[in-house]
Amino acid sequence: MTFKELGLNDALMKAIEDLGFENPTPIQQQTIPLLKSKDTDLVALAQTGTGKTAAFGLPILNKLDTNTKDTQALILSPTRELCVQITNDLKKYAKYYKGLMVTSVYGGASIVNQMRDIKQGSQIIVATPGRLVDLIERRAVKLSTIKTIVLDEADEMLNMGFKDSLDAILEQTPEGKNTWLFSATMPREVERIAKNYMNNPVDISAGKKNEGAANITHVYYSVNSRDRYSALKRIVDFYPEIFGVVFCRTKAETQEVADALIKDGYSADALHGDLSQGQRDFVMKRFRNKTLQMLVATDVAARGIDVKDITHVINYNLPEDIESYTHRSGRTARAGKSGLAISIITGRDSGKIKDIERIINKKFERGVVPNGFDVTEKQLFHLVKKLHDVSVNDEEIEKYLPKIYEELKDLSKEEIIKRFISEEFNRFFAYYENASDLNSGSEGGSGNNKTSRFFINLGQLDGFNRNSLKDFLAEISKVHPRMIFNVDVKGSFSFFETESKFVDTFLGVNKDDVEFNNRKVSIEASAKRMRDGGGEERRSGGGGFNKGGRGGFEKGRREGGSSDRSGNRGKFGAHRERKSSGGDRSDSGRRSFDRKDSGEKKQFGKSEFRKNKY
Ligand code: AMP
Repeated sequence: MTFKELGLNDALMKAIEDLGFENPTPIQQQTIPLLKSKDTDLVALAQTGTGKTAAFGLPILNKLDTNTKDTQALILSPTRELCVQITNDLKKYAKYYKGLMVTSVYGGASIVNQMRDIKQGSQIIVATPGRLVDLIERRAVKLSTIKTIVLDEADEMLNMGFKDSLDAILEQTPEGKNTWLFSATMPREVERIAKNYMNNPVDISAGKKNEGAANITHVYYSVNSRDRYSALKRIVDFYPEIFGVVFCRTKAETQEVADALIKDGYSADALHGDLSQGQRDFVMKRFRNKTLQMLVATDVAARGIDVKDITHVINYNLPEDIESYTHRSGRTARAGKSGLAISIITGRDSGKIKDIERIINKKFERGVVPNGFDVTEKQLFHLVKKLHDVSVNDEEIEKYLPKIYEELKDLSKEEIIKRFISEEFNRFFAYYENASDLNSGSEGGSGNNKTSRFFINLGQLDGFNRNSLKDFLAEISKVHPRMIFNVDVKGSFSFFETESKFVDTFLGVNKDDVEFNNRKVSIEASAKRMRDGGGEERRSGGGGFNKGGRGGFEKGRREGGSSDRSGNRGKFGAHRERKSSGGDRSDSGRRSFDRKDSGEKKQFGKSEFRKNKY
């Protein structure tokens, strides 16, 4: 079927042509002829990425009367990002419309400005349910002229707790309107809305329930949980051209992963609900225009996001609710493209993979986390390609060339190439030279090193730095300081690692009633670990290579991480760590601890710790 056969008006046809859409997608073929002429309610089971915005947007626009400023269509969607996206899409379809105003309204932005925009006369309002209820209560929107109401991502709106808002809105809209509901899944709550608020809706389905897009390849990598972050970096390094979304389970984890990636010099940023409206818009803008290579996001924040050409979706953790897997992987392979959905899992997630396979009706491939050699080779040829494709600024470089030729005249072409490439290659080779095997069950995987991580309720606020805390831990446990590593001192607490054979020793400290500054020292086993301290950075002698210089992505990279262009990112990172937590012992010179069971106050080992400060 062609767009011509759908019978849309000329202005829309011209815009569609400009957008390069050749044929309507299956859902558009079903909705457009039906909705553009007939007054009917509709329930559509449709995944994101199927072209559903145009499936409801084009019929709305086709029917719209731009001679009046009355609000004729209301589109409800779960997040502000989706509101903005839908609004932008509608504006593209209505490129040749005159006198059309589409306004998006959502929480977190000035309600006053939104009221002003609506007052100017918006024929289409795109809203999150919560903000729309606020506007209704302030009598800032008039719903009596609404002809069409669209509930987009209805299941997600209900998941997000908008049930009452939806009921309130639907009750206020006029009797004769048409309601079009789009949902990726059909839980009972969505069916209830359809039953309560719709008249004989036409049911359509674009693809089977929850079935993932056919052109997505699903791969999982099984690692030990402490290697999760290292595996992420390894995978990302293996795909130097990656443009992807990394999904995390919580807002905190999202921020932590994004921070760690930024610190390690990657082009990444976080998107989650704790960020301000401005921050979220800024991140999305950078991601959309590809100055940001990786968006690290929660399910909610990235729901329905349509950014072109996403190559990879990485599940840093599988979603709590396995149905979300389809939504996550649907961020890639859009508009006929193919994509890779990668999940980093640990042993206990294997059952979940089976459940997801049932839902997406497709088998996962088991991936092998690339080893150092694979990554080095990939990076090398990426570099060669970049060198080949670099755009040369003839005008500016011209004046230096004679001198450069002179300097290099004793070298053959082969020598020059070799040296030029080595300038970068040496760095990532050094970084990955001794990289371990991160696949779970492998010899080199750090899980096999049998190390354990602990939390202790002492930190900088108690005057500790890395070295002094290590000494303190050695003193109270009698474990040699060399066996205590990755000491990460935070404000009021810290983390450290030791070989697992010392687990009982360290947990046993709790029974000893050790006190520090009249506070009982508490040590707990901890699973959480973002930075791969025992991993590549250290193993390669402070290596780590700069992600700078990736084609197309480095422009928007945030400065202030360790992404110096000179290529010393890893060294700089390691050096900085040493500097910040190293030498200065003067601040920790007044500490001592108390071991109650020994009946005597024990002075903390070294002479520089004064006796009488208990
Ligand atoms: P959606 O499901 O609305 O988020 O759309 C997914 C993507 O498909 C968007 O980038 C649309 O611009 C694009 N798209 C929608 N309809 C078509 C079409 N008929 N042909 C090609 N691309 C389309």
